[in-house]
This record gives sequence, structure tokens and C-alpha cells, in this order.
Amino acid sequence: MWAVEFGDSRDQADKYATQALELMRKLGVPPTPKNFTIWYAYCGEKFPDLRKALDAILSKEEAFDAVQNAALYEKYFASTDEGLAVHETGRQIEDQMAKILTMLVNASEGVGDFEASLKSGLGNISKSSGIGSIKDAVQHLVMETQKMQDSNRKLQAKLEDSSTEIASLRQNLEDVQREAMTDALTGIANRKMFDAMLRRTAAEAMETGEPLCLALTDIDFFKKFNDTYGHQTGDQVLKLVARIMKENVKGRDLAARYGGEEFGVILPQTAIADARTVCEQIRNGVASKRIRNRQTGEEMGNITLSLGIALFRPGEPLSELIHRADEGLYFAKRNGRNQTILETELDTIEAR
Ligand code: GH3
Ligand code: MG
Ligand code: MG
Repeated sequence: MWAVEFGDSRDQADKYATQALELMRKLGVPPTPKNFTIWYAYCGEKFPDLRKALDAILSKEEAFDAVQNAALYEKYFASTDEGLAVHETGRQIEDQMAKILTMLVNASEGVGDFEASLKSGLGNISKSSGIGSIKDAVQHLVMETQKMQDSNRKLQAKLEDSSTEIASLRQNLEDVQREAMTDALTGIANRKMFDAMLRRTAAEAMETGEPLCLALTDIDFFKKFNDTYGHQTGDQVLKLVARIMKENVKGRDLAARYGGEEFGVILPQTAIADARTVCEQIRNGVASKRIRNRQTGEEMGNITLSLGIALFRPGEPLSELIHRADEGLYFAKRNGRNQTILETELDTIEAR
């Protein structure tokens, strides 16, 4: 994703971009978006520490290789892309709020002037003698009232513009946040979302006393599948598993990609027996699919899952809950794979 925003003016941006491209050509740096980001930042003024780091490398007259470029990008930009986008939108919302505040302050000053003007107008009427001067005073009041109405209308229009702007910024922020919580390959929740939800649902379970279950699953013999059919086909399988998981959870349950080919399901307000039902639906759903290459028609057999389920013990560290679910998963593997093991079954299996 190339979404680093530097906030430079058009002229500055033109200048830095031209300098960056010249330097890159001179140094033989391949013109990829990430490399360009680094050299653009070098030519600008917003990353003095990056400039220092690059100057140090330049002074040693070392060649720039892909590894160095990647490391620099990782250090200065990769983890900040998403943060920057959120930060920038947040800043824009603050700007809009400040604008609204200024408008309201100005408007209230306008109301004060209007009030003073009304008072003096009324004073003039009471003091005035003769129809002519009363007419003048009333005309003045009418004019002042019209001015006030005009400025009210303008204020309303400005407020409407601002609230439209804020609504679109908020949407933007929500999109960025959603993206930050989604796994790019499978489109389901990512590890970050999983961790956040587990913390939240555990806190709720402690408050309400409702059961909370955690299931962890790992694809069986996936290394072999990748080795046989290729990593890309493996990726398609990951997408399929994610889809089946998502289809089988509902309400407040959350299916997430926990790691490479490991997934997690958080099941709030769910007893362990019901969690097993959900897991068995997922397991059967995956196992019953025959994997086939759409282009070549090649049959690749079936994919199976092993699953482990644990029930949250209020007050325990979440690492312990995860550990017990993982133990269930491990025993499912040892016990022949393609099965679901509850933490309550661990003792009996160990005894076998
Ligand atoms: P087991 O039944 O014991 O789980 O056997 P396994 O071969 O599945 O063993 P393990 O869980 O250790 O294997 C993990 C493999 O998953 C290694 C790697 O090739 C594959 N993998 C991990 N992440 C990805 C990914 O993002 N895409 C693809 N295609 N494969 C992945
Ligand atoms: Mg694994
Ligand atoms: Mg595996």
C-alpha cells in the first residue's frame, strides 16, 4: 500500500519529486513506489532522521540495494501508513470542528451587535418626535434585521457544508479502521481485531457471568498441500476455509485469521457444548468440499481441520485461555486430526 501523505504544497511536491527521481537515477535506485517514497522524503524536510540515515550511507559511498531500501521503508513508513491515514483524518475533523466553533463565536458576536442596534433603534423611536424620524428609525431596524437574517442564512449554509464534510471524514476514518482490522488475503478479521475482541468479550463475560468460548483451528497437513499444489493454490484454500468459517458463525461470534493457516473463533454467550456444534459445522463444511482447480479441472482431494475449544474462566489471563484451546488443538492433531477436542476432554484423551 502506498499511502504516505507528506502534506507538501503542490510546488514543493513537484520540486521534491523531481529531485528524488534525479537522485534515484544517479544512484541507480529502481523507481518503485516504495523507493520513491524514501527518496521523496529525503528531498523534503519532514523526515530529518531519515535524511541523516541516508546521508550516512551516502558518505560511505555504499551502493543502495533492495534490502537496504526495504529496511528503510519498513523503518520509516510501513507501520505508519495506516496510523498516518487515521491521524490525518482525525486532524481534518479537528480542523472542521475548530471552524464551526469560530463560526459560532462570530455569530454570537453578530447577535450581540444586533441586540445593541435594536436597543439604540428603539431608543431613537422613543426619543423621536415626528413621523419622519420614526420612519427612519424603523427603516434602520428593518435593515438591521435583514442583515441578521442574511448572516444567519450564511451561517446555516456554512454549518451544513461543515457537517457534510465531517460525515465524509468520519466515513473515511471508519474505512481506514476497518481495513486495519481486516486480513488482506481472506477478508475476515485479522489478529489485531481478534485480540481486541477477545479482550472486550472477556471483560463482558466477567461482568455478566455469561460463558465465553474460544476455538482455535489449524489446517491439517497444509505444508504438504502447498508443496504439492503450490502456495497460490494454498492461498485459495485459506480463502475457502475463511469463507466457511464466516458462514457458520453468527451474531456476536467472530471468526478471525489468527496466523498463517491458523484461525480463531470467539464465541461470546456460548456454552462449550454449543461451541462444539459450531466448530463441527465448520469442520464438516470444510471436509465436505472437494478441492478442484477451476482452470485445469485437477482434483486435489479434501482439506481437513483440527480444532480445540476452551471455556473462559473469569479472571484468568487470556494467555491461559488461548493455551487451553491450543492444547485441545494439539491433542486433536495427535489423536488423528480432522476433529474437535474440548478442554474438558483432554484428560480422557491423555489417559488413552
Ligand atoms: P499439521 O497437520 O500438523 O498442522 O501439518 P501442517 O503441514 O499443516 O503443519 P503446520 O501447521 O506447521 O504448517 C504450516 C504450513 O502452512 C506452513 C506453510 O507452508 C503454510 N502456510 C502458512 N501461512 C500460509 C499462507 O499464508 N499461505 C499459504 N499458501 N500457506 C501458508
Ligand atoms: Mg500451523
Ligand atoms: Mg497445519
